[in-house]
Amino acid sequence: MLSEQDKEDFIQSGKISSKIREESKRLIMIGESLLDIAETVEQMIFEEEAKPAFPVNISINEKAAHFTPETNCDITLGETDVVKIDLGVTLNDAPTDTAYTVDLSGNHEELVNASISALNEAIKLMTPGTKIQTISEKIEDTIKSHNFLPISNLTGHMIKKGLLHAGVEIPNVKTQIPYTLKEGDIFAIEPFATTGSGLVQDTDQVEIFSLINPKPLRMPQTRKIQEEIAEKYLFMPFAQRWLDKTNSRLAVGTALKEMISQRILASYPVLKDSGNGIVTQAEHTVLVAEEPIILTK
Ligand code: MN
Ligand code: MN
Repeated sequence: MLSEQDKEDFIQSGKISSKIREESKRLIMIGESLLDIAETVEQMIFEEEAKPAFPVNISINEKAAHFTPETNCDITLGETDVVKIDLGVTLNDAPTDTAYTVDLSGNHEELVNASISALNEAIKLMTPGTKIQTISEKIEDTIKSHNFLPISNLTGHMIKKGLLHAGVEIPNVKTQIPYTLKEGDIFAIEPFATTGSGLVQDTDQVEIFSLINPKPLRMPQTRKIQEEIAEKYLFMPFAQRWLDKTNSRLAVGTALKEMISQRILASYPVLKDSGNGIVTQAEHTVLVAEEPIILTK
C-alpha cells in the first residue's frame, strides 16, 4: 500500500510533470534547436525545485526513444518532423513520467491519435483487479484499429519511490504477464504506434547512461567523474551533456568508455523502428484506484 505521504509526493511530482509538459509545447516549433529545447525543459524542472528523473528525450520520426542532444548538437526541428518529447520529474524521490508527440507537418494526425487513444483506453482500465493482460490487449487492439502497429519491445512500467522502472511492465501488445493491479500501484503507460515494423532496435548513438555498479577506480579523472555521478544522479539516468558542464569533454568521453567496459555504467542507445517507420508516443503516470488518478494529467 502507498502511504499518505508517498501518495502526496507522487501527486506533487505529477503536477510538476504536467505543468512542464504543457509549458514545453510552445518550444516545439520548426527551426527550434533540440539542445535549446532539452536545456530549457530541464531548467524548468529545476525551477520547480524538482529534478529531472532522466534527461529530456527528444526522439524524431523513426527514432522512438532515448535521444537527448549532445553538448555540440546543432540539429533543429524540420518541417516534416514527428517529435516525441518524453520528460520525467522526481520530487522527494517520487518519479513521474509523461510524453507527447508533435506532428509538425500535420500529415500524421491519425498516427498521433492512435497512441493517444490507446493511452486513454488503457487509463480507463487502471482499476484494482485489472490484469495487465487486459490492458496490453486493449493497447494493441486500439492501435491496430487505427491501422498502425504497436511497438512490441517498448513497455509501460511500474513506478515506486526512487525507482522509475520498478520491475512490472505493461507491454503494448498481448502478453502473458500474470500481474493483477492493486489499489495504490503506480504505473507509467506509454503506447507507441508506428507505420513501420513495430520493433525497435539499438542505433550506434548513446547519450544516456546510468550508474549500476560503482567500483574503486585507479584513474583520478575517471574516479572523480564516477564520484560526481554518484553524488548528483545516484542510480538515475543522466546525459553525457550534463557531465560536460563540469568536466572537459575529453575527460568525460574517456571516463564513460572506461566505466562501460568495467560494467559500472549501463548505457541506453537511441532506439529506432527497425523498418524506419514513423513513431508516435503518448504517456501518463497513473495511480491505480476505483477512479484511476492520472498523476501527470
Ligand atoms: Mn517516458
Ligand atoms: Mn516511461
